[in-house]
Amino acid sequence: MATTSCDVAIVGAGLGGCFLALLLGRRGQRVAVIEQGPSVPSAGADFLKPPGLRVLARHGLADLVGRQGLRRDTIRYYHDGDPIQEIRFPEGGFLIRPYRELVELIYTSCTMAGVEFWFDAGIDDLDLGDGRPAELTLKDGRTLRAGVVIGADGTKSVVRRSLGIEQRVSPYERLIMRVATVPLSASVAQLNRLYFSSEGWFTYLYPVGRDEARVFVGLPPEDDQEIFEDGIPSLLDELKKFVTDSSDAFNHLQAATWQRIKVSSLRVESYHRGNAALLGSAAFACHPMTGMGMSYTVRDAEILADVICAAGGDPEELDRLLYARYEPRRHAHRQLIDYGDALAATFPDREAYLAAFRPDLHIFGEAGAVPNVPQLV
Ligand SMILES: Cc1cc2nc3c(=O)[nH]c(=O)nc-3n(C[C@H](O)[C@H](O)[C@H](O)COP(=O)(O)OP(=O)(O)OC[C@H]3O[C@@H](n4cnc5c(N)ncnc54)[C@H](O)[C@@H]3O)c2cc1C
Repeated sequence: MATTSCDVAIVGAGLGGCFLALLLGRRGQRVAVIEQGPSVPSAGADFLKPPGLRVLARHGLADLVGRQGLRRDTIRYYHDGDPIQEIRFPEGGFLIRPYRELVELIYTSCTMAGVEFWFDAGIDDLDLGDGRPAELTLKDGRTLRAGVVIGADGTKSVVRRSLGIEQRVSPYERLIMRVATVPLSASVAQLNRLYFSSEGWFTYLYPVGRDEARVFVGLPPEDDQEIFEDGIPSLLDELKKFVTDSSDAFNHLQAATWQRIKVSSLRVESYHRGNAALLGSAAFACHPMTGMGMSYTVRDAEILADVICAAGGDPEELDRLLYARYEPRRHAHRQLIDYGDALAATFPDREAYLAAFRPDLHIFGEAGAVPNVPQLV
């Protein structure tokens, strides 16, 4: 079997892996991306918030990803049917674009930057080399030598396990159900609305294109068994209790295809060992209510690309720069994960939720600037 070599091997072709590959490929690094699936991943996020959009804009991608995407700038929040607050995003708002479309755009740019992709390529073994180039053995027997290895391989990262990095996974107790897509109704076209109930339910409805909408529902753990046994009519009965201004979407939900999602937070003790580092969901995962996972991931990829290029192939310098410039990102991530935990824990209680809500983290993705958030109660 032939052995191939590259400067940087990236495991995982999600947003993190593809964006890092693009930045490195454009700077002349020889990059190979190893993806276990047949193509870039399809399931994932829809919202790219202003911090992530700013990162993409710095690399000339704003027009590419913005084209055909939807821009929104307002989310209205409800509790037990009453509007409680409205948040407005500055700078043209946020982008709604299905994950697969977004990642595919970056992937296409990667291929133009000379990045090589190996699809259907699971990893069998990873020898991290200890100062030497790492060697990755794929399930089909191929091997790849790389000066740097990046684990962008999601929450169950094989690279993280090979590095022996300790992790803490904390599952959220609520199951989330996600609708593939439904026809867009007038209320959803008008405004993104996020509903909470004191009985522990939430529902988020938003457009994902000119004609389609997506719906997320969070169920209290004590109700999910019953809902799955009784089916969608009893789910709709529950939603009717607290989803007040979007009832025109209910008809479409009857026939919708629902997907169950279990979400967890993930904290890890370190983001690198020697010449290997973790990126994106392999490094951290927060509650989707923050809507910031992708924004942090593209910023992390930007830092990693700078560090890898600055190290110039010197393993000791790479290790030093990763400590100095990449590991500190754990503090920002920890703050975001804690914030997601606080939102997930408090939303059934209106006052507690409003007290926990951090417009600075929510809109700008970092502590500091506090935008004006009108309270509607
Ligand atoms: C329900 C939900 C909703 C979300 N909504 C938002 C949102 O609206 N906005 C936002 O900013 N963030 C959101 N997030 C977070 C966002 O999805 C992540 O931050 C982002 O997808 C991270 O990208 P990634 O490249 O690390 O991971 P992924 O997209 O998970 O990519 C990992 C890739 O690695 C591959 N892989 C795994 N193991 C191997 C292996 N052994 N060998 C080869 N390949 C492998 C996988 O097949 C996959 O393609 C949401 C998360 C969830 C769970």
